[in-house]
Parts: sequence; C-alpha cells; structure tokens
Amino acid sequence: MSGILAVLEAGHKLSAETLGAAGMLAGELGLAVHSVEPEGEYTADGYTAGLEALIREKGFRYVLFPHTYQVRDYAPKLATRFERALIPDVTRMRVEQGQVIATRQLFQGKLNAEIRAVGEPVFVSLQAGAYGVGDGVESIVEKMPEVGGEVRQRPEARFREAQRAVDLSTAQRIVSVGRGIQERENLGLIEDLAAALGAEIAASRPICDNGWLPMERQVGSSGQTVAPRLYVAVGLSGAIQHLVGMKGAKTVVAINRDENAPIFEVADYGLCADLFEVLPELTAAIRAVRGA
Ligand SMILES: Cc1cc2nc3c(=O)[nH]c(=O)nc-3n(C[C@H](O)[C@H](O)[C@H](O)COP(=O)(O)OP(=O)(O)OC[C@H]3O[C@@H](n4cnc5c(N)ncnc54)[C@H](O)[C@@H]3O)c2cc1C
Repeated sequence: MSGILAVLEAGHKLSAETLGAAGMLAGELGLAVHSVEPEGEYTADGYTAGLEALIREKGFRYVLFPHTYQVRDYAPKLATRFERALIPDVTRMRVEQGQVIATRQLFQGKLNAEIRAVGEPVFVSLQAGAYGVGDGVESIVEKMPEVGGEVRQRPEARFREAQRAVDLSTAQRIVSVGRGIQERENLGLIEDLAAALGAEIAASRPICDNGWLPMERQVGSSGQTVAPRLYVAVGLSGAIQHLVGMKGAKTVVAINRDENAPIFEVADYGLCADLFEVLPELTAAIRAVRGA
C-alpha cells in the first residue's frame, strides 16, 4: 500500500490547503504525498471512474480533497466504490496509534465530532482554513487515467462567483460586527467606530444572512479571508467558521460581554463589556486621539 493522494481542483484556492493537510499527515505517518489534478470536462461519473482507477492502481491509503462543491458532488460516490464513507468538511486530523482521527463540527460548531476512520483507503474532505497552504510540500504528481464507461451527466458552463465590489482581503483595518448588535438599526455604532479608525466594515454570517450587510462583507469559511493589521470584533462569539477567515489578522481586539466567548482565545486585547455602553466612548476617544 502506498501513500497519500491529494486531489486538487484546478484554480481552486482550497487545493493549496489540501496539500498542506497532506504534508502534515505525511509527516505523522511517514508516507509520501502524491497529487492529482483531474483533467478534462467535469462529470461526476468521469471523475469517479478516473480516480477510482488511479487509487486502485497505486493503492493509496489516504485520499484528501478540498471541501468544494465539485468534491461534494462526486467524492461520496467515489468512496462508496471502495465500500468506505467520505468524512466531509473536516477541520482537524490527528494520528493516534497509526490511526487517523478526524474532527468535524456539528450543530453550527456547537459540538465537535471525532471520527475514527475504519479501514482503508480513508477519504476526507477539508474545510476552508483548516490547514495552511502546502507551498513547501513536495508531491509526486500523478495523472488521472482516462477510463471509458458510461457518463450520465452533461456538464453546463462552469459556475462563477459574482465579482465582489468590496475586497476585504487587502484592508489594513477592519471592524467586524456579530449578532451582539441585536438590530440592523444599531449598525450606526459600528459605522461610527469604523469611520473613526478609517476601517472597513465586516460581519459574521448571521448579520449577512439577515441582509443587514451585503454577503461580500462576510468573513469566514463561507465568506472572505482577511489578514488586516487590526481586526476589531464586536459582539461576535468567535465560531471556528468565523475564525478561519480572520486568523491571519495581526492584532485582534474583541469586545464581548461574555467572558467565556471563544473570540477572547484569539484576541490580543479583550474588553469584556456591553458593546452599547463602550462603543460610543471608544469611538469618541479614538476621534479625539486621531483628530478625526
Ligand atoms: C458550513 C458553515 C459555514 C459557516 N460559515 C461562516 C462564515 O463564513 N462566517 C461566520 O461568521 N460564520 C459562519 N458560520 C456560522 C458560525 O458557525 C456561527 O454561527 C456564527 O459565526 C456566529 O455569529 P456571531 O458570532 O455573530 O453570533 P453568536 O455566536 O450568536 O455570538 C454573538 C456574541 O455577541 C455577544 N453579545 C451579545 N450581546 C452583546 C452586547 N450587548 N455586548 C457585547 N457582546 C454581546 C454574545 O456574548 C455572543 O458571544 C458557518 C456555519 C456553518 C455550519
């Protein structure tokens, strides 16, 4: 039995993270990393048949995917060909007595499930931000064999995400707001603080889901990834899906009235307080200092 296969998706940024995860696993298990970028027009039947042939030929023990829409479409079916189940949307993997244990979140991140893979190959897809990019990871590049067989799907033009009007990824300062703000009408407090700091406004998912701010201002695993010099998180709990989008921030300031909020674990400065009490004072103090 041979090593780890990282299945990459052409042009998808999560592919680099999958290689990072493969590198970590390779270090733990002493196995080589192989990678494959399936070529040709995508169909679930075509990719499943090609990858099945490759995995059988080389006898890969671990097969890692980025958790993309495409992977969700065909990887469960591929795993089933080997009488295995795909372990999807994994945030962490560790090796215990030679066995991989994968962590995935349940109930919107309230519970962590640890899944012990039984039998090989092990099929895992990795959530965005779960691992760093595998720039330094050396992999043996494989080619997906062309396998004939019935293809029952007819692909349409590839889905493209809408162009974003706001690019938070280059912002140096961000004030990010969470559900603690309670109502859309209270967003003025955030706008004032952001204006005083010369910062962009971002938000957690519930704020964008409610339509209080546009989707393009969402930070996190299903939003934008940001790396500002200053990230001020206001009334935001710090769920893992949010943290993966802002963990590159240099200095994190958190304002939350719950001292046990997970955001404090990643904060450089924490203010355990009611945002409605402290924001006006903070904004006024910043204005005074900056002369804004
Ligand atoms: C597949 C998937 C993808 C997801 N993708 C994303 C994503 O990209 N981005 C994202 O953000 N989330 C994402 N989520 C949702 C995520 O799990 C959390 O539910 C979400 O981040 C919580 O948002 P929040 O922190 O604003 O709200 P909450 O978790 O409700 O936290 C609100 C916080 O405000 C504090 N608070 C309340 N009132 C006050 C006050 N007066 N003063 C000070 N503090 C106060 C509370 O103590 C609490 O900590 C995703 C979930 C799933 C399942």
